[in-house]
Amino acid sequence: MTINRRAFLGTSAALTAALATPMIARAQATPRVVVVGGGSGGATAARYIARDSAGAIDVTLIEPQRVYHTCYFGNLYLGGFVAYDDLGHGYQGLAANYGINVVHDWAVGVDRDAKTVTLASGASVPYDRLVLSPGIDFVDGSVQGWSVSAQGRMPHAYKGGTQVELLKAQIAAMPQGGTFAMIAPPNPYRCPPGPYERISMVAHHLRENNPTAKILLVDPKESFSKQGLFEDGWNRHYSGMITRIGPDMGGAVVEVDPTAMTVTIDGVVEKVDVCNVIPGQRAGQIAFAAGITDGNWAPVSAYDMTSKIDSNITVLGDAAAQGAMPKSGFSANSQAKVAANAIVAALTGSRAFPARYSNTCWSLLDTDDGIKVGATYEASAEGIVSIDSFVSQVGETADVRAATYRESLDWYEAITSDMFV
Ligand code: FAD
Repeated sequence: MTINRRAFLGTSAALTAALATPMIARAQATPRVVVVGGGSGGATAARYIARDSAGAIDVTLIEPQRVYHTCYFGNLYLGGFVAYDDLGHGYQGLAANYGINVVHDWAVGVDRDAKTVTLASGASVPYDRLVLSPGIDFVDGSVQGWSVSAQGRMPHAYKGGTQVELLKAQIAAMPQGGTFAMIAPPNPYRCPPGPYERISMVAHHLRENNPTAKILLVDPKESFSKQGLFEDGWNRHYSGMITRIGPDMGGAVVEVDPTAMTVTIDGVVEKVDVCNVIPGQRAGQIAFAAGITDGNWAPVSAYDMTSKIDSNITVLGDAAAQGAMPKSGFSANSQAKVAANAIVAALTGSRAFPARYSNTCWSLLDTDDGIKVGATYEASAEGIVSIDSFVSQVGETADVRAATYRESLDWYEAITSDMFV
């Protein structure tokens, strides 16, 4: 829903309602930045804008959850490598250490003319610059037979939090020799290696607890991130347990029945015990409400992550169409720092630096067997472009793989501190 000025002021009833609407307003003299979404992009942006402007910018962060559970390391939780509570991070540090006004509510509308964000509570929050980092929502009908109303039977577990707990409980309750199925998403989607790390972690759990169980990976894509590395790891650690059905075998023609717990692949019905459906994805709904999408994602300038449709709005992370960066927490965090620098410079006159971005995606195959892929990026008129890259190699020593895993643990500590402390 986009609320425009004409609709907003069109009737006297609306005007009366508007005048009665509570305004969340702070000191008017200082510029106001409102950040919607307190995840990898939004929490980082709020923290850096507040920190680097040292009180010269009034920062409000709108986020419905009181505790953000990272998707990253959610797969390691499924594998038994970390505890659920290790994934949760609160917003107290942002309020206490940086004076950020944290509002726990949903943003439901953006009036780009009036420069206000409407909250589910009915309150209206004015901004000079708006930052949207709402993550993803799912494309309706992308997997035949599945909708969000079926997520209790067939969880997506792709937004962090309770869905991941549910999936873990379902895997733990599988009968001996049962079948775990995953419907992998089409491109583009958040965390390109995420589904395949999840397969590795589920296989790890099953090998330890349910060694005759089977994993069915139904995939609409011809190929996937770090494919050679994943398949090498699956052969070494989980031989015979994992079957991938790609598009050549009907993996793109799939239908699920959450009541019967079946997966139908190119007309062949499989009964399964757990089914993790990861649907097709698009920008979080508030980007559509703001009217700044291309129908799927929000196009942005590679130089500062501002929307190509409204230069008062910055879009970060998964919701943005920015060019070559994968949709990852590392990417969102990196983009947030570039955007924060640009926003502080625009609003206070401080120095803006050229955009440089980086990303690494680590994945765990089995105990101490970590792999990674990453790149550094710069801005161009066409979008963000990669300037160099690296990837783990098949056949690396156990020491290299253990060191790669330890790097990922250090990264997790670093990014969550960079967002919340
Ligand atoms: P998010 O971090 O999802 O934050 C969005 C926030 O916005 C949420 O807190 C949500 O509550 C809030 N929100 C949404 N709509 C509204 C609204 N209308 N009003 C107010 N708030 C709203 N990335 C890595 O870098 N490394 C990894 O190892 C990694 N592993 C992953 C594993 C899995 C299984 C998955 C699913 C993802 C993984 N990712 C990883 C990807 C990473 O989680 C995302 O790319 C990243 O979180 C995107 O950041 P974001 O800010 O765009 O969205």
